[in-house]
Amino acid sequence: MFDNLSDKLDKALHVLKGHGQITEINVAETLKEVRRALLDADVNFKIAKEFTNRVKEKALGQNVLSSLKPGQLMVKIVKDELTELMGGDAEELDLTGSPSVILMSGLQGSGKTTFSGKLANFLKNKKTRKPLLVACDVYRPAAIDQLHVVGEQIGVEVFSDRGNNDPVAIAKAGVQHAKSDGFNVVIIDTAGRLAVDEQMMTEIANIHKAITPQETLFVVDSMTGQDAVNTAKAFNDVLNFDGVILTKLDGDTRGGAAISIKSVVNKPIKFIGTGEKMEAIDVFYPARMADRILG
Ligand code: GDP
Repeated sequence: MFDNLSDKLDKALHVLKGHGQITEINVAETLKEVRRALLDADVNFKIAKEFTNRVKEKALGQNVLSSLKPGQLMVKIVKDELTELMGGDAEELDLTGSPSVILMSGLQGSGKTTFSGKLANFLKNKKTRKPLLVACDVYRPAAIDQLHVVGEQIGVEVFSDRGNNDPVAIAKAGVQHAKSDGFNVVIIDTAGRLAVDEQMMTEIANIHKAITPQETLFVVDSMTGQDAVNTAKAFNDVLNFDGVILTKLDGDTRGGAAISIKSVVNKPIKFIGTGEKMEAIDVFYPARMADRILG
């Protein structure tokens, strides 16, 4: 995960990590390298520029050059800023509803169905949670089958209504079923399209309005780089979602989405997907991720 970015930042911070004398010139040079590493990882130009400007300001403010350990202090400033950029403190799901309704949104192939299963499994393992999965993709029968397969795999019931082509009605019936059958979490998997289109946005907005979920989560494939950020913006404009799920972080992603998304839509990344298996889910902790990236 993020090996390339990690390597580049390590090289950029090499001098500061105690491999030479630290001067104003090599601090400036280092920041330029840090910016280059972020751009290479697909971080948007403006975000990368603002990032290095903030690091520079902090370094000046803390008199880095006259400090006892200037290199270490600089590395710490970069790490703190990276943590902040990715969201600061970790944010948990709001599960206060009875039942708590979680709505999944995102493009087709982003990993919604897989993540719906992972989240159901994650919550089920918490013992106090009894989740129900609801299949609202009325366009692809295979998607309904897929959710049933996932449900069977993790031992979680799946609500579907194959003859019905109204996703709003299915979502409402799913929530009703949860209420009458004692489920305390409802995870609603929705249809996705290959690109953002009006019909899809209207459909998910209608589901959202009808079931008023506690959590609307936007699922995005981290491999899609800067496009991930644009798609997030489009969904956020319509849904004002509560959190982001970054999937496929186990692949050869350059990491730009993880680093940029929070500052573009100002919504926290809540979980990451790190594989195809049901167990490949992690709560997203910005500080831990920054530690991992900066080694
Ligand atoms: P949906 O169309 O949004 O419901 O996407 P799916 O859940 O069907 O996922 C699309 C593909 O991505 C499937 O082949 C999944 O196995 C795969 N996938 C989903 N999440 C991850 C992940 O975190 N890592 C990897 N490597 N593959 C994933």
